[in-house]
Amino acid sequence: MNASNILNADLHCHSVVSDGTLTPEALAERARRNGVELWSLTDHDEIGGQHRAGAAARAHGMGYLTGTEISVTFAGETVHIVGLGFDPDDEALKQGLARTRGGRAERAQEMAQGLAQVGIHGAFEGALRFVGNPDLISRTHFARFLVDSGVCKETNEVFRRFLTEGKPGYVPHRWASLSNAVQWISGAGGVAVIAHPARYKFTPNEEYALFTEFKAHGGRAVEVVTGSHTAQEYVKYAETAREFGLAASRGSDFHSPDESHTDLGTLPYLPGKLTPVWELLEDRIR
Ligand code: AMP
Ligand code: MN
Ligand code: MN
Ligand code: MN
Repeated sequence: MNASNILNADLHCHSVVSDGTLTPEALAERARRNGVELWSLTDHDEIGGQHRAGAAARAHGMGYLTGTEISVTFAGETVHIVGLGFDPDDEALKQGLARTRGGRAERAQEMAQGLAQVGIHGAFEGALRFVGNPDLISRTHFARFLVDSGVCKETNEVFRRFLTEGKPGYVPHRWASLSNAVQWISGAGGVAVIAHPARYKFTPNEEYALFTEFKAHGGRAVEVVTGSHTAQEYVKYAETAREFGLAASRGSDFHSPDESHTDLGTLPYLPGKLTPVWELLEDRIR
């Protein structure tokens, strides 16, 4: 095994700046307690927590890579592209993310209307009570409201019954394009990473198109070991990474101590014979 694969890197998680429940500082402390050596906070469509996360990582003696997770519409599905190691002051990236966030409030109003039609009233105001960043109201905040108000037992159940395609609180949304997201990240000196590829409901042809186009736009890595993948999927996407000549990333996608089944820093190491994404980003680690 490549020695640099043996690193407790956790390059995917969320804070109150998007849909996590912990502050960047509390996440850094938890990551360090769990043995994380290289960390990245990857809030959805938002980099407002980067300076705090970087400072907290340094205070705990962890390496830090800047991060975000951009929502993209590809072949009619939402795909997530993680960006790592970019310059957080890059203007094109900041403007692109702001544009991607725009429309979330309107979408949330429509989601609340859909829920009202099945007898769940006040969901917009209810979800807002769980929002840390008013610019980033997400389905997760609606899920927390429906659990808190006793409609469902856990957030997973809310998604299944109310917030996924065909369900009353689901509102299709047009996010960034794949090419824009990859270019914002690369243009700011970072590396674009396809997040949790096993989660998308793509046919083999659509998945092939995603990887091919991602690479053509300058994307350089894929998440292989993530909290969203099974052990078989680690093997499958390690193979895909080799086939497409992409580096591999590792991240828990931790959101909350009460909701996430994979804690920071607890996943297996990357499999061998892969280039770890942090090898591409050595000079960007702070
Ligand atoms: P949004 O960006 O508003 O569409 O919300 C997407 C977020 O919802 C994801 O980042 C996850 O945090 C969360 N999510 C999606 N599907 C599920 C699920 N089945 N169970 C729990 N959380 C989910
Ligand atoms: Mn999320
Ligand atoms: Mn995601
Ligand atoms: Mn995520």
